[in-house]
Amino acid sequence: MDVIVIGGGASGLVSGIIAARKGAKVTIIERNLKCGKKILLTGNGRSNFWNQQMDVSYYHSSDINSFSKIFNSKKDEVLDFFKSLGIVPKINNGYYYPYSNQANSILNALLNELDLLNVKIETDEYVTDIIKKDKFYVYTNKKEYSASKVILATGSKAFPKTGSDGNGYLLAKKLGHTINTVLPSLVKLKGQENFYKEIKGVRCEVELSLYEDLKKVKSEIGEVLFTENGISGICTYNLSGIVSRGLKDKRKEEININFIPWFKGLEEGFKEYILKQSNHTIIQVLEGFLNYKIANLILKLTGIEAKAKITEINLDKIIDLLMNFKIEIIGTSDFSEAQVATGGIPLQEINPLTLESKKTKDLYLVGEILDVDGICGGYNLGFAWISGLLAGEGIFKND
Ligand SMILES: Cc1cc2nc3c(=O)[nH]c(=O)nc-3n(C[C@H](O)[C@H](O)[C@H](O)COP(=O)(O)OP(=O)(O)OC[C@H]3O[C@@H](n4cnc5c(N)ncnc54)[C@H](O)[C@@H]3O)c2cc1C
Repeated sequence: MDVIVIGGGASGLVSGIIAARKGAKVTIIERNLKCGKKILLTGNGRSNFWNQQMDVSYYHSSDINSFSKIFNSKKDEVLDFFKSLGIVPKINNGYYYPYSNQANSILNALLNELDLLNVKIETDEYVTDIIKKDKFYVYTNKKEYSASKVILATGSKAFPKTGSDGNGYLLAKKLGHTINTVLPSLVKLKGQENFYKEIKGVRCEVELSLYEDLKKVKSEIGEVLFTENGISGICTYNLSGIVSRGLKDKRKEEININFIPWFKGLEEGFKEYILKQSNHTIIQVLEGFLNYKIANLILKLTGIEAKAKITEINLDKIIDLLMNFKIEIIGTSDFSEAQVATGGIPLQEINPLTLESKKTKDLYLVGEILDVDGICGGYNLGFAWISGLLAGEGIFKND
């Protein structure tokens, strides 16, 4: 069986390995000079390739039923697959990395296996068209190829400088697919307020609660980083897909920042401790447990003098604002900064058991081109591997 995999990223390389292990003659076509440019960027160059807690609830898809079938059918095989490539994992807070702490180890392990399996990799070739007749004819900027099966692994629109610029959606569209609106996810959020320049660069441990049209939809605890026009960091990223979709649907998106998530349960003791410092100015007291830029902003917004002495009344006012610091989100950064895209080809248009297209027979779709996105923590590579494993086997299921 001749198979062409379009795109030498995470999902394409895995589907190529599985197809070749099962006896297919595989060619991978990649537009860049080398495969796996995005893999090398993952996990800040360390590749957070999996998570100890793998569960459907860490993902978004417009068709969560099909997603569950896909996800559950292969999630228990991923670590064995990497073991078969010789990858030794290192687990940090549930996040899996290669033991070398280098994304290169993951990419090289995949490429070495493809080499052993005699898979042809054509780099620096850009697929411009796919035509299905008796078989597939795949056109690049240099040549024409033919194959009985095609696996489309061109990624999404996120981080286009790695090669995934959304052209794959057009190829899929030509083969009969629709595309659910594609928006940036795992991305910075822009706030409406005018104080961000004053606190830019501040990092602190907070609880972020997202409200859509005044209704709380999700909370995250962890580090937030203030940027010149909003917020960033893992907690922010994990809310950003919901925000992207909400803004598109004209929902009001607000985030409540709780700067003192540890306060609950310690109320009386903490207040007593602070009020004992009656000989200190308020700014002295606040700087004892807050970043000084945040402390000054809080005083400015409450209208309390920095040099005033601490009293129960102004302490209550400050605590109230520290726990209920509301910002309104008016946008996200664009695809050039987004780690993933939310939206894509609806899962209703593929067979969840094989990932074969229901629109074009013998076409298979894998990875981020599909309408699936996960939060930070190895979930997006996780889906790339899972879909690659499934399609690599799926191509044999109809024969
Ligand atoms: C900065 C950054 C950090 C990330 N960190 C993590 C992390 O730590 N953990 C995690 O789980 N996820 C992470 N992700 C997300 C993860 O990398 C992606 O979800 C995953 O790589 C998607 O795999 P894919 O195979 O679908 O697409 P991609 O990896 O984008 O691969 C698609 C490939 O197709 C090629 N291509 C596109 N069009 C054509 C064409 N017409 N012809 C030929 N080739 C084509 C592209 O050049 C590319 O190589 C990160 C993403 C970014 C941007």
